[in-house]
Amino acid sequence: MLKLIKGGTLIDCTGKDPVHDAAVLIDGDKIVKVGTTATVTVTTPDVEVFDATGKTILPGLIDAHVHITGSGDPDRLKSLKELVPHMAIRTAQHAKTTLEAGITALRDAGGGFLVDVAVKQAINEGLIPGPRLQVACHGLSITGGHGDSRNGWPPEIEFKGRSVVDSPDEARRAAREQLRDGADHIKLHATGGVMSEGDVPTARGLTLEEMRAAIEEANNVGKKSMSHAQGSTGIKNAILAGINSIDHGFYLTDEIIELMIKKDVFLVPTLAAVHHIVVKGTEAGIPEYGVRKAREAQAAHLKSFKKALDAGVKIAMGTDAATPYNYHGKNMLELELMVSAGMTPKQALLATTKMAAELMGLLDKIGTVEEGKLADIVVASGNPLEDVTVLQPLENIKLVMKGGAVVVNRGVPFVMGA
Ligand SMILES: [Zn+2]
Repeated sequence: MLKLIKGGTLIDCTGKDPVHDAAVLIDGDKIVKVGTTATVTVTTPDVEVFDATGKTILPGLIDAHVHITGSGDPDRLKSLKELVPHMAIRTAQHAKTTLEAGITALRDAGGGFLVDVAVKQAINEGLIPGPRLQVACHGLSITGGHGDSRNGWPPEIEFKGRSVVDSPDEARRAAREQLRDGADHIKLHATGGVMSEGDVPTARGLTLEEMRAAIEEANNVGKKSMSHAQGSTGIKNAILAGINSIDHGFYLTDEIIELMIKKDVFLVPTLAAVHHIVVKGTEAGIPEYGVRKAREAQAAHLKSFKKALDAGVKIAMGTDAATPYNYHGKNMLELELMVSAGMTPKQALLATTKMAAELMGLLDKIGTVEEGKLADIVVASGNPLEDVTVLQPLENIKLVMKGGAVVVNRGVPFVMGA
């Protein structure tokens, strides 16, 4: 079955100028022709034609750092009472909400109990709607570190679903376990963090040797790695160990930025995570230690982002969705925050499409609207090259298509026949 989206302005996110009066022809799950209404013509009546006149056609949007199994609740302790099957059902809902907001691919940064793997499978089998998912299973952490769930939690609770390691050999084994269980990449906690009571963002997490062992296992089977990395020492360790992305990146030095460029390491800034914690504060139920640490780090974080941007570090959009008040489906706020911090709207849009796809190793399949790619397409109201906030209200995301299938249509007229 053919589908034709025509009449709107195409921002293909390759970096090229927008095409007006555009036409995108889709056959099955793929984009087969991209041009204008004058150059893309269809003779068969067996085509579904969507009229995007006055709207913008974009590739499906991508978030390169979410926790799909997390809720955005300010109180993490609440999740202790949750049954794993309930978490799975809730996660399925997050996947649907995210997809319906126009986000057709996600890189997950870790979740418990293999719910991420199960939900990914259910999406791939067509059981539930959701974005294309790359998952990490359990992130690796040192005992008491940011990824050790016991950090700041009641000691009498017995935790399952975590991966705590304290030597290179343990890290190697834990990485192998994640890969065996279905991880698409390995998540490493290189530093302390904000929402963990017992450490600070500037503290080192996993050692260089521990990360190197885990990354070697991932790379051995052709897979990548991502980090939770906030303080300079841990960030540098992660880069030297061979990490593919520095996520958060609060304290970037000139030396680190130079290393990132030299070693082709992405920055995934996740400005929204800190933003929500700082804006909402303790009044909204966020623990005092989290609010204090986020406030302490925010200025340096924004400065680091601008410095990396100016130096030419590759940046992919990531929200850290599921941190307090950072809800699934509200991911597009991150673009506004990146623009406030110094990006042009075009840079923010490319970070959310082409760059995120490159980081995920999927640029040959998604991330731009080009012939031969999968038909992950969004039709939106407004012009995000002038104002990225137009992508935030759900009612502006008019049409979402994933692999050529219409996920949601909020009023784009369509007829059969050209
Ligand atoms: Zn995260």
